[in-house]
Amino acid sequence: MSFSPQPLLDFLEEEGLRPTVQAGLRKVASEFNRDEVEFAAAGIAVLEGWTLRPSRALTRYGSIVPGTKTLRLTVLDCSPEARRDTILHEVAHILTGALIAEGENHGPRWRKVAQALGAQPNYAGRDARFRRASAAQRSAREKVVARCKGCGFEVKRLRRSSREWGRFQHRACGARFEAVEPNR
Ligand SMILES: [Zn+2]
Ligand SMILES: [Zn+2]
Repeated sequence: MSFSPQPLLDFLEEEGLRPTVQAGLRKVASEFNRDEVEFAAAGIAVLEGWTLRPSRALTRYGSIVPGTKTLRLTVLDCSPEARRDTILHEVAHILTGALIAEGENHGPRWRKVAQALGAQPNYAGRDARFRRASAAQRSAREKVVARCKGCGFEVKRLRRSSREWGRFQHRACGARFEAVEPNR
């Protein structure tokens, strides 16, 4: 599910979600004492400045970086429902932060917006397809960082290890570990 960085609004358009966002904003406008049409237009204007970027994160479907106006969406496989929910969830964060209150996080005002957009506020992210993709990516990215000198047991990590492995014993056999340098 790869995609290039692109304007967020173009992406929403392609996914058919732009009308969803507009309708959601019109629906929720009165909750914040705003005019429906004006509120929806203000929301679209906010989204105009944002960019969508691919994310290779293993544990999150999406996230936003307000400082750089970036919405990051997972490139890992997941169900269409999880993907849609993630996009609307993050867009609700963007809109709430810009139009209603900064730092609202998952508070009641964000929940109102998320619900109006059709995101499930308590979406747990327990998507089986994402879990499988994430586990596969994890093992593909893991490298051997240490090996037991006695039995050959290998310790794998996602990142390089600065641990002094020679000082540690492998519990299972009692022999010491040795660090494995990268690219060997
Ligand atoms: Zn969130
Ligand atoms: Zn061992």
